[in-house]
Amino acid sequence: MGYATVLVDVPVPAGEGLFDYAVPPSLDEAAVVGVCVRVPFRGRRAMGFVFARPTTPAVSEVREVIAVDDAYPPLTEEMRRLIDWLAQRYLCSYPDALHVIMPPGPRTRVESVIQLAVDETTASARADAVEARAPGQSRVIRALVAEGPMTIERLGEAAGVKDPTAIVKLLSGQGTVLKESVWRKGVGPLLETLYALAVSEGEAVQAAEATLRRAPKQARVLKTLADRGLPSSAAEIKTMAGVGPAVLASLVAKGLLRVERCERRRGPEVAWTDQAAASVVPTQAQGTVIKSIAEAIRNRRSERFLLHGVTGSGKTEVYLRAVEAALAGGRSAIYLVPEIALTPQAVVGFRARFGDDVAVLHSRLSNGERYDEWRRIYGGKVRVAVGARSAVFAPFRELGLIVLDEEHEGSYKQEDDPRYSARGVAEHRAEEHGAVLLLGSATPSLESYFAAAGPAPRYRLLRLTTRIGGRPLPGVSLVDMRAELAAGNKSVLSLTLREKLAERLARREQTILFLNRRGFSTFVLCRSCGYSARCPNCDVALTLHSTGPAGPELRCHYCDFVRPVPDVCPRCGSSYIRYFGAGTERIADEVKKLFPTARVARLDADAVTRKGAHAAILRSFRDGEVDVLVGTQMVAKGLDFPRVTLVGAVAADTALNLPDFRAAERTFQLLTQVAGRAGRGDPGEVVFQTYQPEHYSLLRAKEQDFEAFYAAELEVRRGLGYPPFTRLGVIIVSGVREQPVIDAAQDLADRVKAAAGEATEVLGPAPAPFARLRGRFRWQILLKSGPGADLEALLRTAQDEARHRRGAGELRVTVDIDPQDLL
Ligand code: ADP
Ligand code: ZN
Ligand code: ZN
Repeated sequence: MGYATVLVDVPVPAGEGLFDYAVPPSLDEAAVVGVCVRVPFRGRRAMGFVFARPTTPAVSEVREVIAVDDAYPPLTEEMRRLIDWLAQRYLCSYPDALHVIMPPGPRTRVESVIQLAVDETTASARADAVEARAPGQSRVIRALVAEGPMTIERLGEAAGVKDPTAIVKLLSGQGTVLKESVWRKGVGPLLETLYALAVSEGEAVQAAEATLRRAPKQARVLKTLADRGLPSSAAEIKTMAGVGPAVLASLVAKGLLRVERCERRRGPEVAWTDQAAASVVPTQAQGTVIKSIAEAIRNRRSERFLLHGVTGSGKTEVYLRAVEAALAGGRSAIYLVPEIALTPQAVVGFRARFGDDVAVLHSRLSNGERYDEWRRIYGGKVRVAVGARSAVFAPFRELGLIVLDEEHEGSYKQEDDPRYSARGVAEHRAEEHGAVLLLGSATPSLESYFAAAGPAPRYRLLRLTTRIGGRPLPGVSLVDMRAELAAGNKSVLSLTLREKLAERLARREQTILFLNRRGFSTFVLCRSCGYSARCPNCDVALTLHSTGPAGPELRCHYCDFVRPVPDVCPRCGSSYIRYFGAGTERIADEVKKLFPTARVARLDADAVTRKGAHAAILRSFRDGEVDVLVGTQMVAKGLDFPRVTLVGAVAADTALNLPDFRAAERTFQLLTQVAGRAGRGDPGEVVFQTYQPEHYSLLRAKEQDFEAFYAAELEVRRGLGYPPFTRLGVIIVSGVREQPVIDAAQDLADRVKAAAGEATEVLGPAPAPFARLRGRFRWQILLKSGPGADLEALLRTAQDEARHRRGAGELRVTVDIDPQDLL
């Protein structure tokens, strides 16, 4: 008998998920490495994939593979290696890794069903025997005889028994029924019934005009199909010819129509398709950059590039040309964007250039759409994939290029298991494929820029320093909101912003007002002097907690420093402390009140819940039906509207008060992006409203001087030992009761501290920034590892320790390596 190591799709702890089975001779040939199989697992059946075919099993007692299943396409060798790598690198389980690289498709949730354990005659006899004594039992058996296997809930209904659990237990004890796990049906190909002409088009028209003269409906169908020249669904025929299924049935009976079952691709909706496929001639600067990248692709060098190009410098064209170079060499390309809903223009650009050769993958697709797009890639039907984070796993066989647009965005990191970073995976896959990795941004992350321009470069730095068409970057003014308050203006709009807005409206130009809503109400800021409460040890904003022992308090969630919430500003004595800001709705209302004739639209999560609303709002803005667009992060990124000449950041410094060491970096990035929306056609102007006008991230964003910001921020990071000088790890302990969570976190922190060497600093435990999430208390331990420390090993130890405590209630321990948002 042969053996198989199977990745079993069941919930297991990190690092686990591979189990050995025997392969019966009847399956020996079919159960090759990669295929989908069914196996017994802890008294149930489960689905899995053959990972290897060892000659001897790792354990002596093995059970047998039940069947080979073709519900799923086989895992390729690269996929298996990738799963292995993910499990090691991000400390997750094998099934968790499997789930990110496979589409939702037929991978279905397993459901428990009850079925007969004996044949129907025996079962009926047993039902008869207990009929009088135990009518409930009898009815349960009869229901199973009549309807076959079903879930316990359905069985209760079918047998008219309120809760059949006890009866089922009894019947299974005596061997009449058994419980089995089956697959709830997942997504499969969408098959559609189509009607096609069974005769030639000429014959069809002839029939319509001769033999079917008295049957005008049938005649109409034949003519319609002959005109259209395509097999059509009943619904389509109904629309075109206005006839129902009965007419179609008679045509089939007469041998004039044929029924076909075809697969129909569920194509994802693309926001705008009315943009021209204009191919531009690269500028000289673009040409130089494209040449370096294309050369590396052509020579199959697995090189990594960081493209630092100011906003409006034409990075998209560089990406498109790089993709062309990969395709020209017969290979495929992946183009990643942080969030596809925020960058509809990117998808349109790719569709315009590469047409149907582009698959689109993102979280808003239905399962069916995603499954179909995935199979187009897997089956080699397309060569380009465009998508968000998870598209980095697009199953191309031969990759020539992976692009990460806006590479600095935090959303490239997944915050659930497996906590992978798309950048990390892209680096790994590019290397495996001998492909080029291209990271691009106007505001690269500190880590990436350090990797390109620092002392030990891993990336090659490419630059685009000017905007297309020699357009100047917009001029930025900082408005000091403290002065506005002192002058008696309590409004969210400063006098400067109002004046400039009025000018735009008079000139019929467009304005974007941007409001960063992240982090509101969690920090303390003085509106009179700009003071904000920060941790003296960690230099991050302190977070407001309303649940302290002596009332509300401010806490550092890195090191657990605590202080009371001040009633008046400790710096200036003002009572305008506790700034909560305003929502987009209030800003839009205020604009309407000030300028009653202005056409104002909002773009935020609330405004776009309806499918297609996002695209509709952007379209009306682009078409000039809206004068002022008020929005959240959604307006900050990627939009290219030539008629926008004014951009206002209403609360430019909110991100500074996020309790995260990257707060300054995020602020700078966001403001640069926002400012970049202005002046993409006519010269533009930008206004930042702030309570901290002297902060370097605001000053450097005003000057749009990335280099200067980078240099300043790097020194801060060096001083406090944050990345890129260290690597971070976070351990989060959570549970429904707080004290056990605190105790376990303390205990775990002590053990990790004992295990950590000199090069790793262990901070906390402290309440996590979201100290209570979905009813669970959360405490965290922060690890900072310097050069030479083995952070993975340390986190793995923590994970193991946590597993041994598993009996201690329902505590959950999660581990995150290189966290992006410490939130
Ligand atoms: P970025 O992504 O760097 O902010 P974009 O790629 O959006 O910049 O380009 C800015 C604008 O310049 C777009 O409208 C784009 O169509 C246009 N553009 C890019 N390259 C060229 C070129 N070589 N010639 C003319 N227009 C170009
Ligand atoms: Zn103050
Ligand atoms: Zn601290």
